Amino acid sequence: MTQSPTDRPVLVLNAGSSSLKYQLVVPESGEVRAAGLVERIGESGSEVADHSGALEAMRSQLQDAGIRLDEVPLRAVGHRVVHGGPDFSEPVVIDDGVLDRIKALSALAPLHNPAAVIGIEAARKRYDVPHVAIFDTAFFSSLPTEASTYAVPRDLAAKHSIRRYGFHGTSHQFVAHATAELLDRPVEDLRQVILHLGNGCSASAVRGGRAVETSMGLTPLQGLVMGTRSGDVDPGLHAYLAREAGMSLDEIDTLLNKKSGVLGLSGVNDFRELVQRVEAGDDDARLAFDVFVHRLKHYVGAYLAILGGADVLVFTAGIGQHSAPVRAAVAAGLGELGISIDDALNEAGSTEARVISPFGSRVVVAVVPTNEELAIARQTADLVG
Ligand code: AMP
Repeated sequence: MTQSPTDRPVLVLNAGSSSLKYQLVVPESGEVRAAGLVERIGESGSEVADHSGALEAMRSQLQDAGIRLDEVPLRAVGHRVVHGGPDFSEPVVIDDGVLDRIKALSALAPLHNPAAVIGIEAARKRYDVPHVAIFDTAFFSSLPTEASTYAVPRDLAAKHSIRRYGFHGTSHQFVAHATAELLDRPVEDLRQVILHLGNGCSASAVRGGRAVETSMGLTPLQGLVMGTRSGDVDPGLHAYLAREAGMSLDEIDTLLNKKSGVLGLSGVNDFRELVQRVEAGDDDARLAFDVFVHRLKHYVGAYLAILGGADVLVFTAGIGQHSAPVRAAVAAGLGELGISIDDALNEAGSTEARVISPFGSRVVVAVVPTNEELAIARQTADLVG
């Protein structure tokens, strides 16, 4: 008996430098047949030497769960790739030429793209099905020029592909559509401000389903305060640290990407722990929380101006979906702008997409779970048919 395509799952892979996240998803139904994580790839003492070993570890994890991957009729493999640079504004089937172009973008995302390339190479050797790259930047390729352009000399920007790219695009796009569904309105009719607050955090302004602004830039360091990333700082900070603290460029890069943000201010990067410390009266945690929220308000205000008012403000990802105190603090004092929250709705512990503003509010405030794996699986399936 032949299986219809709708029974055949897509393997979604998200390769980091030392980890591999995977899901086996049926795109039409959203059914997750399996999901897991291989960690500590290539670290000393780890049994997983490289990404090829990680795929082997995944196969054995799946086997333990009763799934023989070699016998699963895979439709395709969808790979999350962080940076699509100026080349890729849509999902693409990976061939040797595409892989070379993704490699060439590694200068723009040295922390991310090389790992994706290694993951793709290992997976292509193993699975003889179409492989598709889904780019975190793609949704933001629609940014108007005035939003994507940095005010630096144009010839230099052109030579080095310097512009605002934006990241988390797969999530923002998914959530924009899921929000329209929740409100039972066409996405074309909506002006949305979307806050993706997870380990990485980003905001977007979306008009009619198209992104018109976003907080991340050339790299995922710009914008909101994150778990370990500073987000916006004065660009003069780099030269100042180099001169005054004698730091190298790599040290400054590591400082701002890995040791700053909520972690740098409070000593913890997990938001659950941060909120517990705030409640216990920890001053550093309080400051980190307040800086985090202040930056969010800054962007909400900016995007209301960019959009000329919003129909909906959406919270998503780990913190956005689960932290009622963050949502309450962001909305506090914004009544004049049409934004308010119903405390009971905000605090109801639901995992479903839902509205948390009072009935009849000018701006609907919503909590909408993101699902990047499902989005990747669907885009992959759409492309390979
Ligand atoms: P993500 O990257 O979307 O998985 O989000 C991870 C972030 O969400 C971490 O900072 C978690 O601490 C945070 N998070 C997850 N659950 C909660 C919760 N119940 N309350 C506050 N933060 C949470």
